[in-house]
Amino acid sequence: MGVQRGLDGVTFSGGGNSLEWFKINEGETKTIRFLTEGSEIISLPKHFVKVGKFKGNIMCLNNPEENKFDCPLCRNAGKEFGSPISTATERCYAVIIDRETGEPKILEGTKGVYNQLSEIYKTNKSITNVDYSFSKKKGSSKWIDYKLNALITTARPLTKEEKELGAKMNLEDVISAFSKTHAEVKKILEGKAEEKHITKKNIEVEGDLNASLESIAESDDLFED
Ligand SMILES: [Zn+2]
Repeated sequence: MGVQRGLDGVTFSGGGNSLEWFKINEGETKTIRFLTEGSEIISLPKHFVKVGKFKGNIMCLNNPEENKFDCPLCRNAGKEFGSPISTATERCYAVIIDRETGEPKILEGTKGVYNQLSEIYKTNKSITNVDYSFSKKKGSSKWIDYKLNALITTARPLTKEEKELGAKMNLEDVISAFSKTHAEVKKILEGKAEEKHITKKNIEVEGDLNASLESIAESDDLFED
């Protein structure tokens, strides 16, 4: 798997089982606090696949660590917007608090967000010790463009409550929801997969998710409509 954990490669550990996505509209700015430290952010390349009855995100099957570049999705990926199989796009995942609601959510960031966080983490050794304004540029619905700004006046360590909230969300669930084996992908590409719609709206995880599922955000992913 091409999953990377951490902005500096430190091993990820998580807990809990609820998944609710952070949603932001074009031209909007929200205030957030990261509950996931820079060392625990997850980065993974994924394809958006719409073949036959299957529609959803699948993690890229390349494994750079083992020098294996045999991902059948990469081989079949189309370059044009709206292709049945998208080229693999890097995404990063972190648990945040949406200051507006006070609820913990999973943020799916682009490579750009990952790079901004990397810079901050390198300098400050933490991404959780301050609130951020998080903006989605106007006119960026097709090419997602996010901007992060540290709000220095909010600087303080995470409270015990915030740490507990963060521990309820499990980033490993993101990986398992997007993961498929070579055999499973083969079946999907042959159009033999059973109907499945694995998108950000219906990731299945264990536990009581009814409350979360009701408010799971619409996806704003480049390849999802
Ligand atoms: Zn791939």
